Amino acid sequence: MNKIEPVFSQELLAESLSRHYQLTLGKDETAESHHYLYRATALTVRDHLVARWQETRDRYRTEQPKRINYLSLEFLMGRTLSNAVLNLDIEEELKAALVQQACDMEKLESEEPDAGLGNGGLGRLAACFLDSCASLEIPVTGYGLRYQYGMFHQRIDNGHQVEQPDPWLRDGNPWEIESPENTRRVKFGGRTEQYQDENGVMRTSWEHTHDVLAVPYDLPIPGYKNDTVNTLRLWKSEATDEFDLDEFNAGSYIDAVAEKNRAEQITLVLYPNDVSEQGKELRLRQQYFLASASLQDVLHRWVRDHGKDFSIFAAKNGFQLNDTHPTVAIPELMRLLIDDYRLEWEEAWEITTSVMFYTNHTLLPEALEAWSVSLFEQLLPRVLEIIYEINARFLSHVNDQWPGDMDRLRNMSIVTEGDYPCVRMAYLGIVGSSSVNGVAALHTDLLKQGLFRDFNELWPEKFNNKTNGVTPRRWLAHSNPGLKALICSRIGDGWVQDLDELEKLAPYASDSDFAEQFMEVKQRNKAALASLVEQDCGVKFDTGMMFDVQVKRIHEYKRQLLNILHAIHLYRRICDGDTVGMYPRCLLIGGKAAPGYVMAKSIIKLISNVASVINADPRCQNLLRIAFFPDYRVTAMEVICSGTDLSEQISTAGKEASGTGNMKFMMNGAVTIGTLDGANIEIREAVGDDNFFLFGMTAGQVAATRTNYRPQEIIDADPDLSQVMRLLDSGHFDLDEAGLFYSVTAAIRCPSDPWVTAADFHSYVEAQQRVSECYADRQRWSKMAILNTAYSGRFSSDRTIREYRDDIWYRS
Ligand SMILES: *Cc1c(COP(=O)(O)O)cnc(C)c1O
Repeated sequence: MNKIEPVFSQELLAESLSRHYQLTLGKDETAESHHYLYRATALTVRDHLVARWQETRDRYRTEQPKRINYLSLEFLMGRTLSNAVLNLDIEEELKAALVQQACDMEKLESEEPDAGLGNGGLGRLAACFLDSCASLEIPVTGYGLRYQYGMFHQRIDNGHQVEQPDPWLRDGNPWEIESPENTRRVKFGGRTEQYQDENGVMRTSWEHTHDVLAVPYDLPIPGYKNDTVNTLRLWKSEATDEFDLDEFNAGSYIDAVAEKNRAEQITLVLYPNDVSEQGKELRLRQQYFLASASLQDVLHRWVRDHGKDFSIFAAKNGFQLNDTHPTVAIPELMRLLIDDYRLEWEEAWEITTSVMFYTNHTLLPEALEAWSVSLFEQLLPRVLEIIYEINARFLSHVNDQWPGDMDRLRNMSIVTEGDYPCVRMAYLGIVGSSSVNGVAALHTDLLKQGLFRDFNELWPEKFNNKTNGVTPRRWLAHSNPGLKALICSRIGDGWVQDLDELEKLAPYASDSDFAEQFMEVKQRNKAALASLVEQDCGVKFDTGMMFDVQVKRIHEYKRQLLNILHAIHLYRRICDGDTVGMYPRCLLIGGKAAPGYVMAKSIIKLISNVASVINADPRCQNLLRIAFFPDYRVTAMEVICSGTDLSEQISTAGKEASGTGNMKFMMNGAVTIGTLDGANIEIREAVGDDNFFLFGMTAGQVAATRTNYRPQEIIDADPDLSQVMRLLDSGHFDLDEAGLFYSVTAAIRCPSDPWVTAADFHSYVEAQQRVSECYADRQRWSKMAILNTAYSGRFSSDRTIREYRDDIWYRS
């Protein structure tokens, strides 16, 4: 076949647009045009990607580099069009072509639904990593699930969260290409059987299974201006053709169709829980489905290119496991190598432990996956046998290291003891991998000293840190075109690929001309954010006030509650006429709560009620306005982070593994108010403590407080907090539903409150007062804001991915 190389010119783009509009979509001028014009544009841009995509695949096939597979149950991609246009560098030509159709780019972009295949930080990290891998020309394939329903849409109804399904594929997805010829078959249920092979060797087979087909859909991942297009392969579950034979033959048509439904359920919906596990069977099915289909895919390609010789498989393949969710890939690779390709245990184990790399994302106990052995037995009997064997061999190794140390054996065992034994997936991840990494310096230290202490003693060489990052293409070049243009006018555009170059901006922090322009850009972005807030929240934000923002999943450890307690404190001061040194602010809080997380939902209701009371009070009008932002998602964050002055990163120290929202805000010139938690610590180091508002206890102090925490005494000793609690207790924010927030105030007063909200209140209020004073000094603030952008270079996911590349994937 001849290579078709589309040419970038306004004329050819316009011609291609018309062709897709009229011929592919079959529309004429009378059609409701925005939606179809978006699709015609997407198909036009896709044409430009496809040739490069094929070339990239061909290149990998001939050069046979070591290939890395990034396995993740979540990819929070957001929109594709604008990012593809940026990375292909066809923005000017496309805009001009669209003018001919009397349509602007922004209107078109808004026709694209977010690909919301993730909950929050973990899924967005996977998306940023794919962008960096393609931009750095590293041969990385993303593997995930093609959920028919992504993250739910959040509506706020009388202050309450209401979840609505996200049928993002309803109008089709112009970016995906189905690849049915690469369909794989995944086994569930059944039982194992022993048999003698033709050489008389005893082997195990897994029989009488209920198989499900995995059909791949590929999405292009273009690098930034480099002609590399990598792949994100998402699996859809489908019933096998023969699913129905038995039952049809038995005359049970209804049962047969129900069985088909069960197969297709696997990729029906994303579990909407951020950092918490529920142990549901369907979730384990999803995990195994992803792991097995992806491994079979890689092994299929290997055998196609190398035959059944696995001697250099480990030199040519790697698997990065995004949290424990896909760690069942470890025993699954053992199973495939031993049962299907007839390797010996030792050889298979050598390969498996060389190619697997595990990333831990949290220390919170509720997030540590432990699947019940009985569920495993019923769903994946052969995989469980292999886990038992891995554990037996591992424990014998532990016993060699520490002879007779029964406590260690018990503490380190992959399978727990007792009446309801479980498989600890994090331990499986450590034992089966050659690298275990945390996602910020503090988080990795806490892992090594705490949760994984014994393992760190056994294998210190496995443990390493990879501080998270975010892609500057989406989170600065695309989301903040005003700032992009200003930066380019002074230091050129090299920073888009090498974000450390932003340091060249540091000298401009004291240049009044530049500072003025920087603040003008911020002002325009605040106007854009204000109109989004007005449209989505019905609250008017005044761009003359400070924009104070906390957007992230709603979770007690992230302490949106602390933020709202401070808002109540400001409200009380305003009511008392005590407003000296209080800079006027607009407070925006947004984020989704897991549907079953009752306390998080109460916190949303509290924020909404406090906002209603304050916004309706004329005394507050010019000093404090509050809005709850509904349906927080990637596309909203693109507007929010560029229009923010103050970034709230106020988690209980030791609980936020890294945070990545903090990095997006920093890049866009917001100043952080935060605790010494996660990557905040590194942000503060990078920008200097003068340019960061620090408050609160350290992780060590939080841990020490646990044994004698008396929040009521703290409240009684702090008049400000006492008055806030009094307002809450008096029902001031109940809005005719008496006792509505009893559970919230009780949680603050609880001596076992893990989030120690009361303990950090005073220090938080003081830091906020410093923010107020500082913001009033426009020169001082602009300097801080510019320095935040200037020193954000190390939080590029390009830096993170270079470290994965050099220290883990291609370590020599
Ligand atoms: C960046 C991002 C997150 C992560 O935010 P944190 O503040 O790090 O928790 C979550 N959701 C979306 C949509 C994001 O863009």
